[in-house]
Amino acid sequence: MTGASDLAGRLHAVQERVAAACRRVGRAPEEVALLCVTKTVEAARVRQAYEAGARRFGENYAQELRDKALELADLPGLEWHFIGALQRNKVKYVVGTARWIQTIDSPTLLEAVDRRAAQAGPAPQEVLVEVNIAGEQSKSGVSAAELEGLLDRFTGATSCRCAGLMTMPPFFDEPERARPYFADLRRLRDRLSTRARSHVDLRHLSMGMSGDFEVAIEEGATIVRVGTAIFGPRPAGEDG
Ligand SMILES: *Cc1c(COP(=O)(O)O)cnc(C)c1O
Repeated sequence: MTGASDLAGRLHAVQERVAAACRRVGRAPEEVALLCVTKTVEAARVRQAYEAGARRFGENYAQELRDKALELADLPGLEWHFIGALQRNKVKYVVGTARWIQTIDSPTLLEAVDRRAAQAGPAPQEVLVEVNIAGEQSKSGVSAAELEGLLDRFTGATSCRCAGLMTMPPFFDEPERARPYFADLRRLRDRLSTRARSHVDLRHLSMGMSGDFEVAIEEGATIVRVGTAIFGPRPAGEDG
């Protein structure tokens, strides 16, 4: 077997597990987008995943995103999501390249992205707000208490639209232990959706990774972010 067919096999196995998890809870598989996480994965491997049918890809590092997007610019319908910590001086590499930015976690970052998006062109920049659902010191994202205030800031945005929430719960070997955190994010979304805000429509929940995406789907994820289950293990120390 060639590397490309191994990769296609793993991608299709993950796609089937996504569909099976949807069926278990009576959801349509089209409701859940599979985001293939490609940090540290070479552009040639990303191209193989595209050829096997993947269309949505997630990157954690701004320059890596820019370089791969240039290298793969010939692939129609390929959609990039930015899922890493975003520094304000790197916003220029990401806005306009990533169709979605999933990691807005402060008013200053929102302003920087909005300003850049206004220059970059007519289509609004789709973003998600990252929530630190377990309140872990080591994780980025706003606290549940800060979330409402940040969502209110979108009223003043000219070129950004908030399409939902993203989270990364604590890591567990046992996926069931992540379930309460996914359920918390969904409840938070449901509660905050009862009040209309301009430029905010919390229709997406980005949650679930290789170890726990099925549980996340059962709890309402609309975007799952899967890296190692598709591309294999990453080099140690590259897990930002
Ligand atoms: C790396 C990463 C993923 C994918 O993790 P896997 O365990 O390899 O599936 C998902 N989301 C974020 C934010 C990541 O940084």
